[in-house]
Amino acid sequence: MTSYDFDYLVIGGGSGGVSSAKRAAQLYGKKVAIVEGARWGGTCVNVGCVPKKIMFQAANLYHSIIEDTGPYEISLSGTKPKFNWGVFKAKRDAYIERLNNIYLNGLQSAGVTIIEGWASFKDAHTIHVNMNDGFTQTVTAEHIMIASGGKPMIPSGNGIQEHTITSDGFFALTEQPKKAVVVGAGYIAVELAGVLNFLGTETHLVIRKAKVLREFDPVISDFLTNEMIQQGMHLHKNTGGVEQVELVNGLKTVTCVNGEVIEGADIVLMAPGRVPNMEGLGLDKAGVALKEESPHIKVDEYQNTNVPNIYALGDVAGLLELTPMAIAAGRRLADRLFGNLDDAKASYELVPTVVFSHPTVGTIGLTEPKAIEKYGEKNLKIYKSTFVNLYYSMFSHLQPSDKPKTVVKMICAGENELVVGLHIVGMGADEMLQGFAVAMKMGATKADFDATVAIHPTASEEVVTLGTWGTSPQASGAKAPPLMGAPAPQPQLSKM
Ligand SMILES: Cc1cc2nc3c(=O)[nH]c(=O)nc-3n(C[C@H](O)[C@H](O)[C@H](O)COP(=O)(O)OP(=O)(O)OC[C@H]3O[C@@H](n4cnc5c(N)ncnc54)[C@H](O)[C@@H]3O)c2cc1C
Repeated sequence: MTSYDFDYLVIGGGSGGVSSAKRAAQLYGKKVAIVEGARWGGTCVNVGCVPKKIMFQAANLYHSIIEDTGPYEISLSGTKPKFNWGVFKAKRDAYIERLNNIYLNGLQSAGVTIIEGWASFKDAHTIHVNMNDGFTQTVTAEHIMIASGGKPMIPSGNGIQEHTITSDGFFALTEQPKKAVVVGAGYIAVELAGVLNFLGTETHLVIRKAKVLREFDPVISDFLTNEMIQQGMHLHKNTGGVEQVELVNGLKTVTCVNGEVIEGADIVLMAPGRVPNMEGLGLDKAGVALKEESPHIKVDEYQNTNVPNIYALGDVAGLLELTPMAIAAGRRLADRLFGNLDDAKASYELVPTVVFSHPTVGTIGLTEPKAIEKYGEKNLKIYKSTFVNLYYSMFSHLQPSDKPKTVVKMICAGENELVVGLHIVGMGADEMLQGFAVAMKMGATKADFDATVAIHPTASEEVVTLGTWGTSPQASGAKAPPLMGAPAPQPQLSKM
């Protein structure tokens, strides 16, 4: 029998890698090593979810102080609040550094061997590491897992490489830009543009086509596209993308494919998408194959690559690029390889996700077009509600029609109205979705939602009472008169 240095070697100390390595060592007592070239915690902790959510919170708070204190009769005694970007960034960085150490300590206390450097394959069982301390190391392992994540994609075009930043660069900014151009229609572009806009930066969002978040249910992409304009964002639609970025008197001029020009930007943030991070990995030395349809590592539902002892998961495998998904896949893989759980695999079905836009989006399951494709239009019932959150009840300076709205769409399939899609955009959607996701994962039907007593007064009661009529509107959460605020439309059972 061949003997190896380790039972399990993980490449990448991000969400997927850390979770898998820890589980294999801590729960199953395996001899595990993990290689990380940059900072512990990976994208999510350093340049993703965590700093993004902190900036989102800062932006929400700042915006609420400016916009919402008046209606609630809270006096700020005249001075305009100022957000100190530089000081806040330093504070945010210090918090993330603490997280880096928490990740590292967690691995060490689980008994995982730490290797700080960049890994590349020599063969299917051997990894060469260019250590951060200048040395090199060669290690062998019976099983090797690749969780090397992703990185921002930078499109080609005149001056784009030289004069733009990516989301990584956004988190490195030490000063708040006065004017920013953000390019992209996906969730990262939408979220970062929203942060800048709410913090008072003149924000231009450049999208190739007509709407943001085009992969989401149309109710979300339509609503959010309009809402961003309402909130004062400069939305440049149908531009075909960015052709050129020039430096003019120290500021940036962006020229779009359709000829539109945006001048005088302090920053141009390119966020058109992400690509897998496989640089220098030497996958060819181990014979690891890529997908035909995208540049990601090809894996089956158990995270197996085409090489029997090599696995891949998380962003490098390109399946639902979310932190909890990478964590789940990493843990299930360790369970399968070392816990005698032969059928353990992560479920990529009904995964809830949130966009931290303004307002937030919460979505799970099939979009309406996908549900039609799967079940046929005549087998679907779609419940929809648009309402004003009670939060805006005191905004008497706004006409009811101008008050921010929340939209909920529930897609039900078949005779028993199995809930196959739930899409919410509006205040609180981010915190609301998780519980509904549990219900859907358990196979909840519309009748189960109806049978659940609503929590009043909250926005989520609109979800459990969609399309229902109670005896007393106040007690039952029925839709007429509007419960959360004015005006709410009549319950809309848009397709029967
Ligand atoms: C701006 C932004 C916001 C996001 N917001 C959210 C969110 O709100 N919610 C959510 O769920 N997800 C969010 N994500 C996505 C999430 O961060 C990723 O899906 C997740 O981090 C993927 O985990 P991973 O383990 O696959 O890779 P990563 O976390 O990227 O970790 C990969 C690690 O591998 C290391 N590495 C790469 N190559 C090598 C090598 N050769 N040798 C050694 N080390 C190597 C890298 O340095 C990195 O640390 C966001 C991403 C971005 C960019």
